[in-house]
Amino acid sequence: MNPWHLFTVMTPPDTHERQSLKPEDPLAECDSGQELRSERFGDIYASTLDPIGESEHVFLNGNQLQQRWREAPERAGHFYIGELGFGTGLNFLLTWKLWTETEDKNPGWRGLHYAGFEAFPLSAGLVEATHKNWLRQTGPDFEALQPYAKRLLNQWRCLLIGVHRLIHDKSVILDLHVDDANLALRQRAKHSPPMNAWFLDGFSPRRNPELWQPELFSLLAEHSTPATTVATYTSAGHVRRNLSEAGLPVEKARGWGQKRHMLVSKKRADIQSSPQLPLKDPGERRKALVMGAGLAGCTVAHALAGRGWQVTIIDPAAGFGAGGSGIPQLALRLRLFNTASAAAQIYLQAYLFTHRWLIRLASEGKIDWHGTQIRQSPTAMNKRKPLNAERLKQVYGTALFQAAKDGTLRFPMGGWVDPVELCQALCSDPDISIRFNTAEPTFKAEQRGWRVQTDKERPSELADALIIASPQALDKLSILNAAKLEFTTGISTAVSSSNETDKHRHIVTGSRSLFPVRENTQLISATYQRCRAAASDTRAANQENLTAIAEMLQLSSIPPLRVLSHYQRERANTSDRMPLIGRHPEPAPESASNHPIFISTAHGSTGLATCPFAAELIAAEICGETLPLTEEQRLLLDPNRFERRVQKKARAHPSENRKS
Ligand SMILES: Cc1cc2nc3c(=O)[nH]c(=O)nc-3n(C[C@H](O)[C@H](O)[C@H](O)COP(=O)(O)OP(=O)(O)OC[C@H]3O[C@@H](n4cnc5c(N)ncnc54)[C@H](O)[C@@H]3O)c2cc1C
Repeated sequence: MNPWHLFTVMTPPDTHERQSLKPEDPLAECDSGQELRSERFGDIYASTLDPIGESEHVFLNGNQLQQRWREAPERAGHFYIGELGFGTGLNFLLTWKLWTETEDKNPGWRGLHYAGFEAFPLSAGLVEATHKNWLRQTGPDFEALQPYAKRLLNQWRCLLIGVHRLIHDKSVILDLHVDDANLALRQRAKHSPPMNAWFLDGFSPRRNPELWQPELFSLLAEHSTPATTVATYTSAGHVRRNLSEAGLPVEKARGWGQKRHMLVSKKRADIQSSPQLPLKDPGERRKALVMGAGLAGCTVAHALAGRGWQVTIIDPAAGFGAGGSGIPQLALRLRLFNTASAAAQIYLQAYLFTHRWLIRLASEGKIDWHGTQIRQSPTAMNKRKPLNAERLKQVYGTALFQAAKDGTLRFPMGGWVDPVELCQALCSDPDISIRFNTAEPTFKAEQRGWRVQTDKERPSELADALIIASPQALDKLSILNAAKLEFTTGISTAVSSSNETDKHRHIVTGSRSLFPVRENTQLISATYQRCRAAASDTRAANQENLTAIAEMLQLSSIPPLRVLSHYQRERANTSDRMPLIGRHPEPAPESASNHPIFISTAHGSTGLATCPFAAELIAAEICGETLPLTEEQRLLLDPNRFERRVQKKARAHPSENRKS
């Protein structure tokens, strides 16, 4: 829990109805002098003479970053910076470089977490052109930033409205909030830690009054502590007054170049270390126990191990791939919506996050990522609500997928992985141990964590965090009963490839998915049977798959496809078709001995896209970090949402409740 929320009143998040997830065009271009200029605001993006010098003077030195990183933290954890007006990313690049090069940082700082807010993201082409211009202009100064700039540009695509975790280095995280800053700050996920420093770098109050509204200043204060600093290039009197009145006192300081003044914080208050999670003995590492060795469990174990945790995964099965994560080819799919809803944003953010994550694992040689693309018929996936091509275009634009004349959607970022290989690669981390064939565990909450007994022969263990990443385990434990998991069985059929099917180099998705050839076989995925696996008829299912694929591809006949094997697995869904991701129950305020259980499950038919994202959310939440989500999105995933709905209904109809 973030202790500073005791001092602040949180502004309730608003549910904002949108027509589209496409941000508005910044109307920017490089002018004749090669300066990047915004038509929308009638101003340039950075100082013409010395953009690097100005950024360092105003924001990095104005917030005394290096000096503070060398001192003991105001509170152990990440150093949080919020920037309004991310623009070309120059301030971030300089901060990232300074962080990396400051070798004598106090070990209390676990990492740098940078949140950029930008309502009008620039195209990758314009950012690149501007970087090139600076390289010409400043020579070695920008040359030193090039490795960082390249990595940022690699991730710079499909920046639709939402929160995008673009950089996830060992100790540096960049979240780009694409939205109006006032809205995005109002929507920042509950319990997000406050910022240590603010860079106020939006276009000037005269040119961009929508940003500098009075409400902005109280929002900034809401996400700050008395030790938070602010720096801005403007010295406008009303900015100074509004900041000071909101509780962020600033004073004039020497500006950069021709600007006489800028604003920086007055001397920071001395802050005592804030209360943290229950303290551990020095040197003792935190331990987590994860139930379930499918994609949900292995991704969460990997995300926690990356944060220095020791993780044990338990699973009653004999090895990896006992559940849905045992289908040999899973497609990375984007679940589409006809409306620009928060649910649409969640699936979009998860898809983009996982795509970046898979590419990184592949580039490190840890997994094989098959970026084959996906061709999807408009009727695929959303069986309940047919997708409307016009609405899709309005909601998403054309960066993520393009529609052909026959309505087929082509996803250039689509592809597939072998989930068992992926799980094995994730669990090869030395900080993850895995136990298969385990008996049903028992748990008891103790003052210092969860006391867990897995097998009778083993002594019980203490875990700081307990994560349920298995629909079957959640079902058996009878917690979250209001969520009522629905299980469906899916059968995928492996067939010998034929001349008529092996020509497809991409994944073809309609009523079934046909995967590209792998070792002379092709996978047809999958049936959707509303029963548990034990009750499903595999012979009939294989035949259904063959018939469906023959119809879908308009094959002359079925015989060329010979069934080689099949995979019968269960999927789990909730009644609102959103996964369960987060903590259960909500923590009681100020209770150190209250140990929540974390849950990542009900990933339905898109677990490859949602499990890695869920893992990031759970690991961030366990470690008290900011989540790459808005509050509205968090509530849609919250495992307690069904219980809350039941309680709300009971309050609204108390008489009905008494009768039953
Ligand atoms: C036929 C089929 C095709 C699919 N195709 C795709 C696709 O192309 N793309 C996509 O994104 N998604 C697809 N999915 C969905 C995807 O497989 C799932 O969303 C994903 O695998 C879920 O992972 P998980 O870890 O939550 O569950 P699972 O992979 O089911 O893992 C759950 C684990 O929990 C273990 N377990 C059981 N009981 C206990 C217990 N008491 N304690 C601890 N552990 C326990 C099980 O042994 C299992 O290992 C498909 C699903 C099916 C069935």
